[in-house]
Amino acid sequence: MRILIANLIAKIARMTSRLAKRGGGTTLPGLLAEKIAPNIITKLANQLPQGIILITGTNGKTTTARMLAAVLEANNLKVIYNSSGSNLSRGIASCLSQNSNLLGTKINGDIGIFEVDEATMPEITKKVTPKIILVTNLFRDQLDRYGELNKTASIIGSAIKRVPESIVFLNADDPLVASLKKYNKNVRYFGINDHIETKSNGAIDSKNCLECDHELRYEHRYFGHLGTYECPKCGAKKPKLDYGLSNLRLSVEKSIANYGFSDHKILLEIQLPGLYNLYNALAACAIASEMRIKDTTIQDSIKKVTAAFGRMESVEVGTKKLFLLLVKNPTGFTQVIETLSYDNKPKSLFLLLNDKFADGTDISWIWDAELELLNKLADRVVVSGIRAEDLLLRLKYADFDLGNVMIEKNVEQALDLAFANIQEGETLYVMPTYTAMLELRKILYNRSLVKGLVE
Ligand SMILES: [Zn+2]
Repeated sequence: MRILIANLIAKIARMTSRLAKRGGGTTLPGLLAEKIAPNIITKLANQLPQGIILITGTNGKTTTARMLAAVLEANNLKVIYNSSGSNLSRGIASCLSQNSNLLGTKINGDIGIFEVDEATMPEITKKVTPKIILVTNLFRDQLDRYGELNKTASIIGSAIKRVPESIVFLNADDPLVASLKKYNKNVRYFGINDHIETKSNGAIDSKNCLECDHELRYEHRYFGHLGTYECPKCGAKKPKLDYGLSNLRLSVEKSIANYGFSDHKILLEIQLPGLYNLYNALAACAIASEMRIKDTTIQDSIKKVTAAFGRMESVEVGTKKLFLLLVKNPTGFTQVIETLSYDNKPKSLFLLLNDKFADGTDISWIWDAELELLNKLADRVVVSGIRAEDLLLRLKYADFDLGNVMIEKNVEQALDLAFANIQEGETLYVMPTYTAMLELRKILYNRSLVKGLVE
């Protein structure tokens, strides 16, 4: 009875917020539903015949979820998943409620894939036992939102400890994530075996051995603190991989690698650039392989996946092109810059920095992003957003030629300036923070250049 009322209220809330045009109404219905029927997640999730998969970690949740959903759907499973931005308990409740009948006795799906905020993980594993849990990586996010990294790791640890039956996929290349095995032994490790090296010299978020606190030695550092590592003191090292990538071929347009597990290898090609997207693809492939999905299904469906909304999106504007690359934390920003440097060609750049809540109100993180790697690639640059001046100052310290940098705080006018910087057939590389990306997308939408405003 409670589920019925909860579902009814959720439905009304969804309709009302749609009518009021307050976005897709992704969290309020779930918030209300959980208030009325606190067990709604348990009740509904347990009806999914193939169970649920939780994806947590700092970066890559959305893209990995999309890739995995694509593979599972190609394997004829009906997948339900929470849209990005609703990765708290209420977002998951909302998604389940939306996909169930009013009585809560039937759910319209075979399997659930849910992105879960790191801090929300314990709450979710209290409510359900997932089939699979994936931890992508742990990087320092905006300072004002999370405490230190080790604390985040122990929160995830407490969550996976509660569900020993769940299979936990851990990124072996991230020492902190790999160390989570102490909480749950039912682990599969995924990672990269290659000789690639990051160009970044920047600060590493997690560089000490989790066993003895001695500084780790890296044979190869792929990016941030991800790589092939070993502790010279106690001998702790990167675990042996169950699922891995090798022979990486990276370009500004796409990425190719050999994907292997047990004794066999297949070629993996994705239409997204950047090493971090290869990690996302690897995690999705590993879970799919564990679920015994055929190689050819995995290869074909992963190849078709495009970037999630604004994260890495290409927009045609006549004969010119916009390439949107969302930046939200120092490591992510540095990775985007490294990706752009694969071809060493000069580029026109458009950088936007906002400091609203969803961007992180403390913008000091831009000083940890390695803009120094970008100055040699920069042809002409436009900076914009609420904190455009701070960005300009950052570029000055990163040795940019300020004679080629223009500042315009109004986003629409800045876009026109940036556009005027490129010739026919050229690409403008746009790096906005989250709310700046939304603002920009709204402008593009009003000019009929993109089809939708929300996913
Ligand atoms: Zn050690």
